[in-house]
This record gives sequence, C-alpha cells and structure tokens, in this order.
Amino acid sequence: MTLLDGKKVSNDIKDEIAVDVERIKSRGERVPHLAAVLVGEDGASLTYVGSKVKACERVGFDSTLVKLPDTTTEEELLEKIKELNENSLIDGFIVQLPLPKHINEDRVLVAVDPSKDVDGFHPENFGRMALEMESFIPATPSGILQLLERNNVETKGKHTVVIGRSHIVGRPMSILMSQKGEAGNSTVTLAHSHTKNLSDFTKKADIIIVALGVPEFLTQDMVKEGVVVIDVGISRVADASKPRGYAIKGDVDFENVSKKASFITPVPGGVGPMTIAMLLKNTLIARERRKLK
Ligand code: NAD
Repeated sequence: MTLLDGKKVSNDIKDEIAVDVERIKSRGERVPHLAAVLVGEDGASLTYVGSKVKACERVGFDSTLVKLPDTTTEEELLEKIKELNENSLIDGFIVQLPLPKHINEDRVLVAVDPSKDVDGFHPENFGRMALEMESFIPATPSGILQLLERNNVETKGKHTVVIGRSHIVGRPMSILMSQKGEAGNSTVTLAHSHTKNLSDFTKKADIIIVALGVPEFLTQDMVKEGVVVIDVGISRVADASKPRGYAIKGDVDFENVSKKASFITPVPGGVGPMTIAMLLKNTLIARERRKLK
C-alpha cells in the first residue's frame, strides 16, 4: 500500500509557486493577492480561512482577510463582493462557505467576477470546466487530480466511483475523472444518497473518491483488493483523549480499508492540504491572466 501524501505533494506545489513568486518579484511586478471573505464565527471556517491566509504568507502572496459579522445582510455582502471585483489590486478571492442561513449562497457565488473566482464555483467557470475549456477548477477536485498524477496513479480506462454529488467536490470530480487527458479518461459512476446497493458499485471500482462527511462510511467489505481510495471527508468526532476534545475523521475506515488498498489518502494529511495548494495555484493563474489583459 502506498500512502498518497498530500502534505508532501502540497509542499512541492507550494515550493514551485514560491519560485514563481520570486520570479515575479525579480521583474519588479506586483505579487499575487488573494482575499478571503468570512461571514460569522463558525469554528471550522475560521480554521480553514486561517490556513489559507498562512499559506499565502508561505509562498509570498499578499492576502486580505475580510471578516464580517454573522448579522451581515445579503446586500452588504454583495456590496463587499462588488468592491473586491472592482479592486484592481486583488487577483482572486473566495467567499468561505457555509454562509449564514439568511444569505442565499447562489446569489453570492454568481456575483463573483469569474476572472477572480479562484474557488471555481461560478457557473461560468463550472460550465467551462465541464466543456474542457480554460477555467478555474475547484480546488479540492483539482488537488485530487494532482495527487493522482504526481503519484503516477493510472486513471485511464479505470472504473471510478465518486460518492457524494456536492457542487464543490463530488459533481466536479465526476466530470473531471471522465475528461480527456491526465488525470481522467476514467469510466465514472456518481453515487449519492439515493443510490441503491452502493456496495455493488464500490466492490467493482478501481478508484473510489469519497466525499460525504460521514465518518468511516467506507468499510473494508465494500472494496476490492488493490483499490485506490481518496478520502475527502473531514468530520470532528468527540474524543476525550485529544487536547481539543475531538478527533478529525475521514469518510473511510482507514485502518481496515488500507489493508486492501494499493493507494490511499490519510486524514488529515491527504486531500486537505492539496485543496489549499490548488487555491494558491489558481490565484497565481489569476494573476498571470490579469497581466495578459
Ligand atoms: P455535502 O455535505 O454538500 O454533500 C454530501 C453528499 O453526500 C451529498 O451529495 C449526498 O447525496 C451524499 N450522501 C450523503 N449520504 C450518503 C450515503 N449514505 N450514500 C451515498 N451518498 C451519500 O458534501 P461536501 O461539501 O462535498 O463535503 C463532504 C465532506 O468533505 C465533508 O466532510 C467536508 O467537510 C469534506 N470536505 C473536505 C474538503 C477538503 O479539502 N479535504 C473540501 C470540501 C469538503
């Protein structure tokens, strides 16, 4: 079994980005600038945004954290997005999800200028991705492709089962795994909460990508010998033995599934760090595209 080490691969990608930033600086040009908008005080979101800002520092990007109270109205948030769209010093920005319930997520995501939409959530980018045109690919699926590619995991002609059809992970992942080119050319089954007899599909799968948010959902009896397993799930499970009172669990029973897997991602240290690295990569791309305009 080979561990798909997201920490290592993401550090490689960040090192490559840092070299590009040095080149940009040596030409006397402005470094890429990522902004993140956080509405409210959700603990997990604060952690994620904090890691994104720290990652910007690590590669030499400028970053701005826009923190808004959870009483922010949709109109106020849309106004802030308009400001970021118009700010020529910001190359890309993200709106950390989930948003408070009184704000319509769809209206917010379509308000982001597609050329600054480094999360790749705008319908224009999603459509372009599906059509294999130049776009921003959502960071988590993009990170999974990199993890597969850089570990030379063959995807061509393989049967991939993606579990979960969220707009940010499962659905784009299913499209990308079937795209022409690396990593792709896979035959894809997209499973979700209405899928019957899920094990019938997973037992035949060469590659399984699990993104549901149910701790240790995928068990050893659901997979075949030699399977490649990508675990996207991040759940906090109460654990009194941990200093914070909780442990981070993925969607895969790692201890037992890893005994049958040829490649598998750990949680933490698998897909999570890749997501941040690809967000930085998208920001670098956004900076370069803006220069060409
Ligand atoms: P989501 O919560 O939006 O959707 C879950 C999906 O799982 C739905 O499509 C649903 O149909 C499917 N599902 C639920 N129960 C099922 C079942 N019993 N059988 C089959 N399908 C079922 O999902 P999301 O936003 O993609 O997040 C999934 C998990 O991934 C969460 O734990 C989240 O925290 C994590 N996540 C991690 C990263 C990362 O960087 N590692 C990024 C995004 C999300």
